[in-house]
Amino acid sequence: MTGDRPRTHPGTAGGVLAVDIGGTKLALRAIAAGAAVYERTVPWPVGGDAGGESELMEASVAEAVGALGGAPVRIGVAAAPNVDADGSVLSWPNRPDWVGRSLTAPFAGSGAEVLFGDDATLAGLAEAMSTGSRDLVYLGIGTGVGGGLVSGGRLLTGAWGTAGELGHLVVDPRGPRCRCGTRGCLQAVVSAEALAAHAAAARGLPTTSAELVAGVDRAEPWADRTLDHAADSIAGALRVLVELVQPAQVRIGGGLGAALAPLPRRVARRLAAKARPGRPLPEVGPAVHGPHSSLAGAALLAAHGTSVLGGADLFREGCPS
Ligand SMILES: [Zn+2]
Repeated sequence: MTGDRPRTHPGTAGGVLAVDIGGTKLALRAIAAGAAVYERTVPWPVGGDAGGESELMEASVAEAVGALGGAPVRIGVAAAPNVDADGSVLSWPNRPDWVGRSLTAPFAGSGAEVLFGDDATLAGLAEAMSTGSRDLVYLGIGTGVGGGLVSGGRLLTGAWGTAGELGHLVVDPRGPRCRCGTRGCLQAVVSAEALAAHAAAARGLPTTSAELVAGVDRAEPWADRTLDHAADSIAGALRVLVELVQPAQVRIGGGLGAALAPLPRRVARRLAAKARPGRPLPEVGPAVHGPHSSLAGAALLAAHGTSVLGGADLFREGCPS
């Protein structure tokens, strides 16, 4: 379990709780009078099941609520799994035993209104608000690969609220098969697992994503080849987005994405080489919230309610800033 430095959250007068349910961990931040008063990251136990994970979530939420000293006004949850309107899990690729189980049950004892949002969409929201950019693409690289799109100051959520799934843009039609069944989705090529496998092949040794990060930091040639491969694949996806939504900024985050410090600059170079001549290109940089963009987005959802997800102009007077 790791702590983190408290962050300020303007506009959160009452106590709220932000929760990020990710592929490898649960992150919680309690916010009172606009300031983080509690933050904790709880890794999922290796080999755990949905029942045990649900109990761990309930205990973690209770501890965070205890740190607030009273029931939060609202809990914002950034969720990797897809949930229906009642909070039942519809799909969670790396935790299939959660399907059909209630994701709201662990929060039932909190006494608060609980709001769910897609983790990468909320991350995009937080990055747009914190950078002041009305046209931003967020790309999260970790257990999975997710995206959040803000265009013209509004979240792009699509007709059914699930737009921006950048992880399933095909970047290599002959590449590895994705969990969705298609070959060469960005997620199948640059997820933590995929990049670890690429690094292992480049190095000739079994390699974890943490070892890849260390290899990149030491400028090892095999790690550099994997970084190049990641940058080239991401630039291929961004080339499409430049044509479709013309972002001013691209922010790369997620657990692995935030740890690969040279990645944004490498992506920018590859994108410049791939893009149509004369096309204005976005600034590509690291997520300002590091690996915590989804948690920051959950805090916005907790503070301001579903209005932030409703397609309203995020920068108009009265919206979060
Ligand atoms: Zn896919």
